[in-house]
Amino acid sequence: MGKFELINLPYEANALEPIISAQTIGFHHGKHLQGYVNNLNAAIAGTPFEEMPLEEIVKKATGGMLNNAGQILNHNLYFLQFQKPVADNRPVGKLAAAIDAQFGSFEAFQKEFVQSGATLFGSGWVWLSADADGKLVITQEPNAANPVQKGLTPLLTFDVWEHAYYLDYQNRRPDHLNALWDIVNWKVVENRYV
Ligand code: MN
Repeated sequence: MGKFELINLPYEANALEPIISAQTIGFHHGKHLQGYVNNLNAAIAGTPFEEMPLEEIVKKATGGMLNNAGQILNHNLYFLQFQKPVADNRPVGKLAAAIDAQFGSFEAFQKEFVQSGATLFGSGWVWLSADADGKLVITQEPNAANPVQKGLTPLLTFDVWEHAYYLDYQNRRPDHLNALWDIVNWKVVENRYV
């Protein structure tokens, strides 16, 4: 067993249905993320990276090591931000206030976030992050990139790699992204906004 381990999901594999199927969770968490964990552990063995926390590896590594570390950090943030579907699911508190102040409304923010994910060409991630002043920013990050590489604090992310949605939505990426709002755990997201 290596230094990094596959995170445990804080919900059952079928808990996010019908938004994300148990089959997709099984492959995405159990196979794809496990693969990144195995690859990173093999890559860092016997190197100075073995002593670093995950975020530091993402900031300092290159090549395959960066790709696998980035994908672990991205997926950990992704899987831990979900919960079973909730009706009228919205952020509360200071994050909700910041979203309203910067984007005009929660609905306007949702539209811009989904548009950003839908127009990302190829594989990658759409992110809501905070800068050093607490200002919110939406970014598209290709492949395994993470906003920490730009000095941002990642808050919320939707995975637009096809493995995240193809079993359930095939080519309908925007439908998948729009559906994800029902399962965002806003308490978790707001706790990242410090
Ligand atoms: Mn993924």
